[in-house]
Amino acid sequence: MDRETSVKPLVMVVEDETALVTMLRYNLEKEGYRVCEALDGEEALTVLAEREPDLVLLDWMLPVLSGIEVCRQIRRKAKTRDLPVIMLTARGEEADKIRGLNIGADDYLTKPFSLPELMARVRALLRRARPVQSKGVLHYEDIRMDQTTHRVTRGSRHIHLGPTEYRLLQFFLQHPGSVFSREDLLNGVWGPDIYVEPRTVDVHIRRLRIALNGDSDVDVIRTVRAAGYALDTGMPLTP
Ligand code: CA
Repeated sequence: MDRETSVKPLVMVVEDETALVTMLRYNLEKEGYRVCEALDGEEALTVLAEREPDLVLLDWMLPVLSGIEVCRQIRRKAKTRDLPVIMLTARGEEADKIRGLNIGADDYLTKPFSLPELMARVRALLRRARPVQSKGVLHYEDIRMDQTTHRVTRGSRHIHLGPTEYRLLQFFLQHPGSVFSREDLLNGVWGPDIYVEPRTVDVHIRRLRIALNGDSDVDVIRTVRAAGYALDTGMPLTP
């Protein structure tokens, strides 16, 4: 663990505009990250097979293989399934944004983006992906989160969660039964220093819900109209 945390995080930049790659590399290295790069989607997959980045900045419009397809493949492979991905795109439409998040991106930035905002999102996402080591097990009803091994189970079923969904569930498990507004969740999970659209919360809640519920007919996340969300099966809380 000490060895892991002492190594600077490796950020992979997948982008075909070389000027942007140079600018990103310069600024990421200045912030203390290591950087590797790929100029098209196919090269991205090759680099991913060889290196183990901690985060990917992924352009949507790429030659050979699109960013969307690269993101799909990242999520499909066991080795990279948990890898945090920030999509970079010139397309700003809401529908595209939601589509990007739905195929598994963790965050989304529209070009031209501000550098401080990009850095804030990189930091926030790395923080979620490598949460401060809090030991111990959190549980609610049949949901169990081992914070040391990052293993999450519901009953006997192993639950696979991306970094954002993991942090969301951890936050809920720390306050079971409490109702949180989207803004509460943004502050608690994404951090107060970055701006994320409230609808992003809904996308991650939906992913968490699908992962947790599986075939179960008991929905563990209650939507409270006009108020927000709670981890709540509607059953009495057991201490
Ligand atoms: Ca491009």
